[in-house]
Amino acid sequence: MSVLLLSHPDCLRHVPPRPHPERPERLRAAEEALRRAELQGLEYLEPPPAEPEVLELVHTRAHLDRVRRSARGPGTWLDPDTYVVEGSWPAALAAAGSCLAAVDAVAVGRCAAAFALVRPPGHHAGPERAMGFCLLNHVALGTRWLIERWGLRRVLVLDWDVHHGNGTQEVFYRDGRVLFVSVHQEGWYPGTGSLDERGEGDGEGLVVNVPLPAGVGDEGYRTVFEEVVLPLGDAWTPEFVLVSAGFDAHHLDPLGRMQLTEWGFARLAALLREATTRWCAGRLALVLEGGYDLAALRASVVSVIRVLCGEEPGSPPERRPGELPYAAVRERVRLVRRALVPYWAV
Ligand SMILES: [Zn+2]
Repeated sequence: MSVLLLSHPDCLRHVPPRPHPERPERLRAAEEALRRAELQGLEYLEPPPAEPEVLELVHTRAHLDRVRRSARGPGTWLDPDTYVVEGSWPAALAAAGSCLAAVDAVAVGRCAAAFALVRPPGHHAGPERAMGFCLLNHVALGTRWLIERWGLRRVLVLDWDVHHGNGTQEVFYRDGRVLFVSVHQEGWYPGTGSLDERGEGDGEGLVVNVPLPAGVGDEGYRTVFEEVVLPLGDAWTPEFVLVSAGFDAHHLDPLGRMQLTEWGFARLAALLREATTRWCAGRLALVLEGGYDLAALRASVVSVIRVLCGEEPGSPPERRPGELPYAAVRERVRLVRRALVPYWAV
């Protein structure tokens, strides 16, 4: 079965009014690199934009009206980082549409896995606000769609962007059907994502934050996956895994201070590919979030999709000189696991 790459040219219409890290060149770079790589088993799809009504699964009408209205004028900023220009509304609808089509394609078994190569990113957007380059929360929308349209009752949303997925966390904070796990840099934008944010009500224990000190590299991330993320999945047995796949934890990224390599991302994808086969017949969809160094983004997207297409990550690179000592990672993993004790036997 093929791997599906979903994207839409309207995603390029969200163009910053002044130099900005979140720019159309990101998608162009990733897409060109994928075409050049000529991966066996990768199929391209250009799904229609989302119908605006479906966005109300996640967002308030007031928020949607504000974004749509702002996109009609000469352009404006919804927060100090988040611009809206004339093409932003069609771009956001196209990104949401690709994300919905990605989860649908996986849910019906049309593909082995799906990757929505979209922008603007989404995981900082909450029900009522745009934030941190994000207008609509595509991963939250895809998750709600799986619950409402497909009747799923256990979805795992994994966010490996270097920034905490605060918007997604907000959407599912009291939801007993979604396990949200965010692995991010501690004390970094937007400042949320501490160990003691754990969900409430039906969602208590289903928000798991893994804030990591700066400098964690490939080995550290592997440890976090093997000792936190995968055991949680084994315990939760999700029916679907949706990934907020940012690539700004790459060592070249200007907006992160982590030390991951493209090989490290590929290995995370390999671990997930194997685990989702065990949990839910491989139902896995990834959605692009951050990643602002074009070379790092190109290499990481290709490496991850190569693994989804069935290749192995190959030999690891040398340990990077800037990496945090492994003992510090182990200590953090111990703290994270201790915070899980009241809720999880992992
Ligand atoms: Zn990010």
